[in-house]
Amino acid sequence: MIYLDHAATTPLRGSALTAMERYFAQAYGNPSSIHQSGRAARLALDAARHTIAEFVDCQTAELLFTSGGTESIHSALFGAWLAQPQKRHVVTTAVEHHAVLHTCQLLEELGLQVTVVPTDRVGRVSVAQLTSAIRPDTLVVSVMRINNEIGTIVDIAGLVQAVKLVAPEVLFHSDMVQALSSERLSLDALGVDMASFSAHKVNGPKGVGALFLRRGTPWKSALRGGAQERDRRAGTENVPGIVGFAAAVSWLEAHWPEHQRTIHDRSVELMRGLQRIVGTEVNSPTDATPGIVNVRFVGVRADRLLMRLDLEGIAASAGSACTAGSLQQSHVLAACGLVDSATRESIRFSLADVTTSAEIAETVATLERIVPLLRRS
Ligand code: PLP
Repeated sequence: MIYLDHAATTPLRGSALTAMERYFAQAYGNPSSIHQSGRAARLALDAARHTIAEFVDCQTAELLFTSGGTESIHSALFGAWLAQPQKRHVVTTAVEHHAVLHTCQLLEELGLQVTVVPTDRVGRVSVAQLTSAIRPDTLVVSVMRINNEIGTIVDIAGLVQAVKLVAPEVLFHSDMVQALSSERLSLDALGVDMASFSAHKVNGPKGVGALFLRRGTPWKSALRGGAQERDRRAGTENVPGIVGFAAAVSWLEAHWPEHQRTIHDRSVELMRGLQRIVGTEVNSPTDATPGIVNVRFVGVRADRLLMRLDLEGIAASAGSACTAGSLQQSHVLAACGLVDSATRESIRFSLADVTTSAEIAETVATLERIVPLLRRS
């Protein structure tokens, strides 16, 4: 199979699998236990936190482990509200992942007000629109760093600066799930108060994530129980998963230049190939992250094309994996101003360092063959 759906999830890196095995089979102790096996798990947890904190440039105490990107996002927004329940307004953008938009909907059901700021044609909000949405009772602004459907990179540092200028007490959360493998992040420099991450987007295991909570951020945990994660996330930690997450991040750290170069080169090859296919419109901006290429094949329905590609052994998707099975139209492409027919004809290829030139060539050749056939049928 040619797997071009790495924005949906990535294969587990061999080194991550190897690192995890020990914490399933031998050092399976509970990291809160004081015996040897527990202490071994605790050491692994501490080491993993250190590795990831170094990678994203924050302090270890500012990072807590969760069950994934969705939980991190939910926990960021709910935790902010629990700490300041008098603040009843949230600002976000129309192109966020459903993990953000649906969490905001739940907050709305609970009586908060949510302003969803529209974006331009590539999914970027303007500073003026974002800051003018802020009110005296605004609790948090949530804007993603890299869009998972079209790859747009958002100037989070600039937005944080603008928001803090008009309202220093408003918290800034960023969904950085797609950013972790695409750029070297410095949470310190970006200035966000909270940021969400997920292991399975960086060749780590599924069901593990992290939440960055800047020191001093007013925040209260919505998940109560044990005192794990410094009382910020109750529940026995997923030690093998967290170890795998850190191993995947270590791999990235060690291979960063080649990793980035390979994805960039494959992306250029794919773009060149797509240009050979008549009636192709690229939805991703030219300065998108190279790993995500969203494209419309005019006159070809995305669901039919994806099914045909699947039969040919090529895995791609129509935007977010979370909506892929439901035949819902992409809210991201709609927010970018694409008409219904265009959103229905758009698909996403997402690449990784394991994607080969031969795979790209075969994908392009297959598209050259089947797109005209599907147009005629
Ligand atoms: N945010 C973005 C941008 C994503 O792409 C995803 C995954 O699809 C998530 C959040 C949710 O992450 P997880 O699958 O780890 O819950």
